[in-house]
Amino acid sequence: MNSILQTILNEIIGFLSLGGIIEMFKTGDFSRLSTLSGLLGTLYTLIPALLVFEIVSALIMRRFSRSHYQIPFLVYVLNRFISVFVSFGMVGFCIGLFEKHAIFKSSVTWYWFIYGYIVWEFGHFIYHYLGHKVRLFWCLHSTHHTPQEMNLFVNHAHFFLEAPYADVIRTTVCILLGVSPTMLFLIMAIDGLWGSFIHIGDNIAKNARLGFLNKIILTPSHHRVHHAKNPLYMDTNFCNLLNIWDRVFKTYQDEMYDVKIEYGITREMKPNSLWDSYFGEFVCLFKDMAAAPGIKNKLLYVVMPPGWSHKGDHKTAKVTKEAYLQESRSHIAEGVGS
Ligand SMILES: [Zn+2]
Ligand SMILES: [Zn+2]
Repeated sequence: MNSILQTILNEIIGFLSLGGIIEMFKTGDFSRLSTLSGLLGTLYTLIPALLVFEIVSALIMRRFSRSHYQIPFLVYVLNRFISVFVSFGMVGFCIGLFEKHAIFKSSVTWYWFIYGYIVWEFGHFIYHYLGHKVRLFWCLHSTHHTPQEMNLFVNHAHFFLEAPYADVIRTTVCILLGVSPTMLFLIMAIDGLWGSFIHIGDNIAKNARLGFLNKIILTPSHHRVHHAKNPLYMDTNFCNLLNIWDRVFKTYQDEMYDVKIEYGITREMKPNSLWDSYFGEFVCLFKDMAAAPGIKNKLLYVVMPPGWSHKGDHKTAKVTKEAYLQESRSHIAEGVGS
């Protein structure tokens, strides 16, 4: 019994990232704050603390709904459970495999840091874009998009296979393009921190544009747009901190004051079902494949974007957005004409 309680306590301490801080106070040694990795480790504790604050403030304002947190929480618990047994170490594996094939080797300086970050974002863009545009990868990524409210727990809602697959792509791109492993780990730490923060809930940051920063980096507002199922917002803002590649590949979208974000995915979902959130898209894919005639059509369902149909009546994000824009344009034209 004692060991079960100890395990739960360790999980809570681990989740709240309190280990380092407890150690710091126990030993009275605060020198870790003077190193970058120590400082980042301490800053990481801010995210769970913000999450607790988010829940408490929602409780006080009587806006707390268990359903907003239930799915991300259950996915988090499931992931923790699986990751105890499955440790991939994909990052180390890819570094070992590809370092000798790097086109050149960069060092650890501030300008190579900027270069490394831009390259990392490129790897992130590729992984994330494929996660939305290739049906099989969407089956993995959709778990992260099923929550119908935005809060910091959403950051933990991922299909367990998604992290290794994302890390393979991001690490490989960085290592092949000459980013040093030390720089890679630094960038990963900063990116993980920012990746958590951009899921900050509406309860504590109603307007999350962050002022002038909205013009230069990817803010929580941009990521809220990414989590929206509105036709205008779907499949936009794939980057994490620098939205340079969204601008290059024309997937950048601002949060519009007159288009209120609706979180979630477009298909009808079973409310608060962990199964539907985790495996629902796989079930839909198998159904589509089973109904499709011929092996070619069946395989096309695996690689084509979500919404693609062998009958030609596609309901992809692109088709939906074009129809929406067409309708808005005709409304404007009618308004001008009348
Ligand atoms: Zn996404
Ligand atoms: Zn997200």
